[in-house]
Amino acid sequence: MIRLLVAALLFVAASASAQNADQRVQTIVSSASFRDAKAFLEADHDRFVKELITLTEIPAPSFKEQKRGAAYLEMLRAAKLTDVETDAEGNVMGIRKGTSNGPMLAVLAHLDTVFPEGTNVTVTRSGNRLIAPGAGDDTAALALMLGVIRAMDAAKVQTPGDLLFVGNVGEEGEGDLRGAKYLLQKGKYKDRIKSFISIDGGAQDGIVNGGLGSRRYRVTFKGPGGHSYGAFGLVSPAYAMGNAMTKFSKLQVPARPRTTFNVGVVGGGTSVNSIPIDMYMLVDMRSESPDELKKVDEAFQRVVREAVDEENRARSTAEGKIAVEVKLIGDRPSGATPTSAYLVQAAAAVSRSFGFTPTFEIGSTDANVPISMGIPAITIGRGAGGRSHAPDEWVDITAEKNVQAGEVVLATILAAADGR
Ligand SMILES: [Zn+2]
Repeated sequence: MIRLLVAALLFVAASASAQNADQRVQTIVSSASFRDAKAFLEADHDRFVKELITLTEIPAPSFKEQKRGAAYLEMLRAAKLTDVETDAEGNVMGIRKGTSNGPMLAVLAHLDTVFPEGTNVTVTRSGNRLIAPGAGDDTAALALMLGVIRAMDAAKVQTPGDLLFVGNVGEEGEGDLRGAKYLLQKGKYKDRIKSFISIDGGAQDGIVNGGLGSRRYRVTFKGPGGHSYGAFGLVSPAYAMGNAMTKFSKLQVPARPRTTFNVGVVGGGTSVNSIPIDMYMLVDMRSESPDELKKVDEAFQRVVREAVDEENRARSTAEGKIAVEVKLIGDRPSGATPTSAYLVQAAAAVSRSFGFTPTFEIGSTDANVPISMGIPAITIGRGAGGRSHAPDEWVDITAEKNVQAGEVVLATILAAADGR
């Protein structure tokens, strides 16, 4: 009974907050200053394209974002932010001052791309498409953010709290969200950031309010090695790892909450006629639920230990035993900003006001970090494009589409900065 009542009250609160958000967003997008900002974005389009090309052509693999970071720092400075700086992790950022002491909102786009050093990142143009590795993810968001900052300035838009704009490092793969983690857990603004928007992903009807957690390991099996013929019968890291993989492949995980596992890379050994001295595999596990992620992780650790023990019992350990090193190489926390939270409601209201039907999604983005810390956070799209993480990645640079993408980002920032 009490439960039902609570549920009913929550429902009322949620729909009141949706209405509230819709009203606020209407006020924002129909204001004279918002129209001025839109006009500015239209006039600024060529610069957006130019800066997108400049940034795309500066390679920025995860852990090697310095050059692009330095260029972006200068662009943030040119956009007239204050306190422009690079933090100890390599994030570049600046502040747009609020009018009063409202809560600080952080807005991020990531500097790094998935493409390794040496990738040809020269931009080519085909009709309304710019094509190059990394042009979209997340370089288009970096460029979009600059236009939005300038538009706010040109339209004299004010917010109650400070806005912190960040080009952050380490979003992709083994970067393991290191930029967002540093910003929120160690950086100078860690206690001031009260809400968080990451601009990442393409389509703007999807609002990521759930963080898909993942754990990643590099697992290395080691043994004494030896001649394949002369030392036959000694324990082998290859058999230990093969057994571990077989056991791992048979783990049962729930379909809801969605939980997955994968062996993505294997390697090791030196020659066909040697018992290897080491073998390794890269393992990835994900779940929408922190509990299920913990469970599959524990089961994985258990089967690895069992496989090692079985190998040490199955063959001779006269020259040494099989040992295993399980090294954590990725740890992305999971959780969700409730759909009833003002930030999520505001983003949905913006989406509706531009004619989209908003959906709430679960993703693996920089927003995972604040979400796991209880800070309201979402990831919103940067606009039209495709083939993210592929060499023929492209961005649609049709002016109207980019202007609208900028408007959506701006309206979401303004609604979020407006409070709750
Ligand atoms: Zn991205």
